[in-house]
Amino acid sequence: MPLSPDQQAEIEELRSNPQQTLRAVAPGMEKHLYKAIDVLDHGFVRVIDYMGDDAAICQAARVSYGKGTKSVQNDEGLIRYLMRHWHSTPFEMCEIKLHVKLPVFVARQWIRHRTANVNEYSARYSILDREFYIPAPDQLAAQSVINNQGRGEALTGDEAARVLEYLKADSNRAYDHYEQMISDDGQQGLARELARMNLPANIYTQWYWKVDLHNLFHFLRLRADAHAQYEIRVYAEAICAIAADWVPFAYRAFEDYRMGGATLSATALDCIRRMVKGETVTQENSGMSKGEWREFEATLNAG
Ligand SMILES: Cc1cc2nc3c(=O)[nH]c(=O)nc-3n(C[C@H](O)[C@H](O)[C@H](O)COP(=O)(O)OP(=O)(O)OC[C@H]3O[C@@H](n4cnc5c(N)ncnc54)[C@H](O)[C@@H]3O)c2cc1C
Repeated sequence: MPLSPDQQAEIEELRSNPQQTLRAVAPGMEKHLYKAIDVLDHGFVRVIDYMGDDAAICQAARVSYGKGTKSVQNDEGLIRYLMRHWHSTPFEMCEIKLHVKLPVFVARQWIRHRTANVNEYSARYSILDREFYIPAPDQLAAQSVINNQGRGEALTGDEAARVLEYLKADSNRAYDHYEQMISDDGQQGLARELARMNLPANIYTQWYWKVDLHNLFHFLRLRADAHAQYEIRVYAEAICAIAADWVPFAYRAFEDYRMGGATLSATALDCIRRMVKGETVTQENSGMSKGEWREFEATLNAG
């Protein structure tokens, strides 16, 4: 279980003490506050705090003295307009603070998103738990033969069993040595900041991650995408569900224009215009490379 009974009790206590406030409150988000959503085998995402809602985006866009809301229909229309025209700063008026528990190799991908504020659990100060990400059997896949940066068919039989055994045994052996090195029982005990260096990248770490809605959407666009590695994608998908409850208009616009939409080059757009006029366009007469054409066809045939 990702959360201990003590941690669960702390969450219940926080949730049992609501405060009256004059600040904007998003009802969809209130139900998420503090609760942990399980991700992978020991990880989670939970909302620690947030600022703003759909109305706050409109309020900022209109530089309003009041709530910024004209009517529900008007607000959704305005948010869609802002998203469509890349008028991004009103989305930056909303913020979210998450507590995330994740394997170190996922954290390495996540931390590349520089436009967020992060504070990570200190393994110089604290002792890491014996918690390692071990993939479920259906995620234990072979190297993809199509995509160098991905996985293909799931491993089977003896090979799958052997790989699982290596992952578990290596993780535990490294942790046993970590414990032995930091122990001060009959020895000086190695500093935690040094002992951690033999721990594998599937050990779990934790951080607080605060980001504005514009940059959150950018993160989700890249990491909830089918091209993202499964282990970060499942975190992004959990956050997508939270964002959909928090800012439903903005999330719907994001789904429509960014997640479900596509960016086309001038050449690709020209091909579509020619197709609409009835011309037979092929890779050879498209002006695109084979790779571009393959992706263009995939875009047209998706869904
Ligand atoms: C499928 C996939 C595969 C990837 N593969 C690799 C890989 O093989 N190797 C690798 O190293 N990385 C890889 N990455 C990471 C990728 O290159 C980006 O570093 C990561 O997605 C963060 O994106 P970002 O810089 O747009 O986000 P953020 O850092 O959040 O930045 C958001 C935006 O702010 C602006 N910005 C922020 N900081 C700066 C700056 N210093 N200068 C200029 N503009 C800035 C940019 O417009 C940027 O798009 C991969 C990412 C994905 C999604």
